[in-house]
Amino acid sequence: LIKAYILSTGNELLLGTTIDSNSVYLSKKLRELGIKVIGKITVGDTRENLESAFRLAISSAEVVICTGGLGPTFDDLTKEVVCGLMKCKMQINQEIVDNLKAYFISRNRPMPDNNLSQAMFPPEATILPNRFGTAPGMYLPVQQDKKIILLPGPPCEMRNMYVEEVEPRLKEDFNLQQNKSNTRIIKVFGPGESQVDQILAGITKEVDKSNIALLAHDGEVHIRITAEDDQENSSEVLEPIVEAVKVKLKDKIYGYDNDNLVSVVVQLLKERGQCLASAESCTGGLLSKLITDMPGSSEIFWGSVVSYSNQAKMKLLGVSPETLENYGAVSRETAREMAIGIRKVSGADYGLSITGIAGPDGGTKTKPVGLVYIALAADNTCIVKELRSRGNRKSIRIISTKSVLDLLRRQLLAGGISS
Ligand code: ATP
Ligand code: MG
Repeated sequence: LIKAYILSTGNELLLGTTIDSNSVYLSKKLRELGIKVIGKITVGDTRENLESAFRLAISSAEVVICTGGLGPTFDDLTKEVVCGLMKCKMQINQEIVDNLKAYFISRNRPMPDNNLSQAMFPPEATILPNRFGTAPGMYLPVQQDKKIILLPGPPCEMRNMYVEEVEPRLKEDFNLQQNKSNTRIIKVFGPGESQVDQILAGITKEVDKSNIALLAHDGEVHIRITAEDDQENSSEVLEPIVEAVKVKLKDKIYGYDNDNLVSVVVQLLKERGQCLASAESCTGGLLSKLITDMPGSSEIFWGSVVSYSNQAKMKLLGVSPETLENYGAVSRETAREMAIGIRKVSGADYGLSITGIAGPDGGTKTKPVGLVYIALAADNTCIVKELRSRGNRKSIRIISTKSVLDLLRRQLLAGGISS
């Protein structure tokens, strides 16, 4: 198995002002290629620290990818450091100089002299063009079967260059095939980690512990099944385990691998040619945000009313004042009228609603923080569910949102509702 080291450089990463998303992205992409990331280092912009990080990475992995520090300023040192360590000499590259000049002319700005440092490369390196910025990257072969790859720090530049310039070269140089993934993920919403663990007890006993893992997050449990690193036919190992898990968990499973609850619900509605509308109170539009994060969701999403106040619930959704008076805004009855109301206003096939107490204040003995009602209105029925979530405001909102999506998912699959 090919091993990789990822280096993230920049003082801002150490100060906590920037999240190191580059290394997360690269980890995922390298795994897809079957390259094993054995370590990551985050390091500031000092020569000393860069050198020792590169020394460690180069001595322990075949692929070293570093992001950041390719800019024209005094703190951009990565190229210099790598060339120093590898004893290669940098030369000015006229083609890059011309590109840089053209870049500045097209933006109607003078080119500062220090930008010329971005045109310095060792002749051994392949220069990787950057269509979205000024700093080209570099792909440097060292010794036999070792590559050092330098990419710029800004995530959108880095990602495009990885996909367009780096991935094809890694595939070619290390003879790799994509998607020979040795991992499957089965995704469950609803039951907790220990419950899933219990349901799967028979399977987990038989399968080697290192090959099956449970990961819990925001109300979801993901069952990750991994074949051995060097297994040639990993699907022959993985699929029987996936089947065994399916038999045990049935409709508690909402999806696999890259699925999420929204993508699954959007797909189900598209298949049926149906659409939904939502009325949100305590989630303040989170449901609508998650749905609209999905490209193409306009086909199945009418829109949402964020009816935070009682006034909005009455005026926009037709919730009756008596209901609010008698049962309160956080009640089965209000949730039901919100779902029915938004369905009526929108003419959508399904109306979803969420009303609850997300905290940290506002809870009482009878209506504690975390008490949330969700409802699904369809042509022939309206289903209301009470949730009692623990956690902070953020997690209560997320779990409520996912719960209403899962309610719709289960009903669509069970065929228990019609529009
Ligand atoms: P530039 O020419 O833009 O200076 P560069 O290669 O020198 O490119 P840096 O100066 O290290 O890159 O970083 C530029 C910006 O990219 C940072 O301000 C930061 O917002 C973002 N960035 C850098 N490293 C990372 C990282 N590991 N994860 C996410 N964002 C990053
Ligand atoms: Mg920079």
